[in-house]
Amino acid sequence: MYGGEKMRLKAGLLGIGKIARDQHIPALNANPRYELVACASRNTTVTGVPSFPDLETMLAAMPDLNCVSICTPPQAHFEAALTSLRAGKHVMLEKPPAATTRQIALLADEAARRNLTLFQTWHSRFADGVDAAREWLRTRKLVSGKITWKEDVHHWHPGQKWIWEPGGFGVFDPGINALSLLTAILPRDVCVESAVLEFPENQQSPIASTLRMRTDDGVQIGAEFDFRQKGEQSWDIELKTTTGTLKLSKGGAVLAIDGKELSSEEGLAGEYPRLYQRFAELVDSGASDVDWRPFQLVADAFLIGERRIVAPHTI
Ligand code: NAP
Repeated sequence: MYGGEKMRLKAGLLGIGKIARDQHIPALNANPRYELVACASRNTTVTGVPSFPDLETMLAAMPDLNCVSICTPPQAHFEAALTSLRAGKHVMLEKPPAATTRQIALLADEAARRNLTLFQTWHSRFADGVDAAREWLRTRKLVSGKITWKEDVHHWHPGQKWIWEPGGFGVFDPGINALSLLTAILPRDVCVESAVLEFPENQQSPIASTLRMRTDDGVQIGAEFDFRQKGEQSWDIELKTTTGTLKLSKGGAVLAIDGKELSSEEGLAGEYPRLYQRFAELVDSGASDVDWRPFQLVADAFLIGERRIVAPHTI
């Protein structure tokens, strides 16, 4: 028991790569609600934590696990989450939630049937500026919107082949974070009207994309996603209203209204501690949190997007 009341959650972590080491392990270790009791990864181990080569071996060896946090690439999410739920574990799932939209719907059904928590995370929604941005927009009339999400893939995703494979999302791996923010803060629904996707001639996923979206009351929102950005990197959303302009930058960590900064945090600093806090609260209350709208927007861009072939890309 924790704090005399709440059960301590024995957590298993699947897929020990960049985000598991940078964010998940520190966040789990810092939160007294959790005990990181096992890791599963094909090619690596975590010092001081019992490590297993795959999920099935971890589940068989650690029957007391309460939850599994899945940090593999999206192509592996569905099987891993389904196996964990069928073993009776609560599941926290990294973004993008799965490789196909149907998979995430099936996972939500499976969790509901078993009275288990499925937390399908959008880490950017836990950035510092997001709640204040949603509140500021709630009573305002939107005029236009623009997303600029441009980063250097060689810097942020070195050697990650899966991003370029089918189901790897390409530039939408970071781009879906922008769409998770947009759908969280806008008071209206939004859908994709048109898209252009640029595929390197030697890769299966897009390196850049532009989207034209439209809210259900007719406001245009444009988006530019690009993995070829050198120099200054941009993770910005700018929304003009009849009574001022809101800018969320650094992926949601910085909020400014008419150029005046209202909140500011460094990078992903607070996001993962808040994600794990939320997961514990969901488990405590027997609830799930699943919202696949950002994923639908990406899938729709792939469905209706014009496809252009561009210069080859070396990983
Ligand atoms: P990564 O560094 O490539 O790590 C993923 C790990 O998953 C790999 O090290 C690999 O470890 C394991 N894995 C299992 N099945 C795999 C497969 N089929 N292909 C490749 N690896 C597989 O990737 P990451 O950056 O941590 O990203 C993982 C997930 O977190 C993605 O969904 C990504 O969108 C999300 N995410 C990443 C960041 C970031 O800044 N990097 C931020 C937020 C969210 P083994 O080979 O040992 O099994």
